[in-house]
Amino acid sequence: MSDGDVVVALDVGGTGMKCALVRPDGRTVHTERHPTGSDRGPAAVVDTILEVAEGLAGKACADGRTPVALGVAVPGVVDEGRGVAVWSANIGFRDVPLRDLAVARLGLPTALGHDVRVGGLAEARLGAGRGAGHVLFVAIGTGIAAAHVVDGSASVGAHGAAGEIGHILVRPDGPRCGCGRPGCLEAIASAAAVGRRYAELTGVPADAAEVAERAAAGEPAAVRIWQETVAALADGLATGQALFDVATIVLGGGLAQAGARLLDPLRAALHERMTFHREPRLVAAALGDEAGCLGAALLALDALGVPRTVEKQ
Ligand SMILES: [Zn+2]
Repeated sequence: MSDGDVVVALDVGGTGMKCALVRPDGRTVHTERHPTGSDRGPAAVVDTILEVAEGLAGKACADGRTPVALGVAVPGVVDEGRGVAVWSANIGFRDVPLRDLAVARLGLPTALGHDVRVGGLAEARLGAGRGAGHVLFVAIGTGIAAAHVVDGSASVGAHGAAGEIGHILVRPDGPRCGCGRPGCLEAIASAAAVGRRYAELTGVPADAAEVAERAAAGEPAAVRIWQETVAALADGLATGQALFDVATIVLGGGLAQAGARLLDPLRAALHERMTFHREPRLVAAALGDEAGCLGAALLALDALGVPRTVEKQ
């Protein structure tokens, strides 16, 4: 790697794309945002991804840098080995060979990753899980998904679907999940579910941040929803800890922005649930919404075989 080398990184979400030029040491030298335009269908989204990536590579060259690779993160089920976006509910991808399409268009070595897995990769290597070795990154937003990262590599699973911690069954008689089954963790404790459950109980619309605030102010309905949320999350994380025995659990996504209002009671609830297994350190994510781009860049560098010696200080 030479001084002017950069990775073109894209984190493609249902509504927007975060894009960056990232140096091999994890430092970002340029960022851009673009709308995804998922309503135009998956083919148009693929075109936009390739166009934006090409534009970023051109920008790098214009600035006197050398684009050495492309990393793209997408939601849903992702086959990283084949570079295929297998399935995505919010973008409509069905078996899209994104990596090959990008290689054909840009001529750059390309890595395709899952948004939460690469976010976990970045948090484990450059963010809140740095130095921990074994990290479980849990993103709590519209849904709940996790990445299990060991020594800087995230487990992908046999079918590209590892880390679906949101579909751990925590309340058999609970609300029905988007996956069709009642009682999944994300049907109770995702940011979306917290707002929905509060509205059902009170008739007042509110988002998760407002519920957290009202709970802290002692409003009974909000206190009840928040306590149920913390209990369900603690059950899910305790299952995660029983499976993975990590040193650190990093919480990201919208709900984690509640900070101590979430982390303090959750830490206590998790502590109660530990018997013989060791209690993990529970911390908030540190990289914010940059994590996806940084992780996509790391994945691309890993695929190039760049040694992981130099990382963000
Ligand atoms: Zn489910």
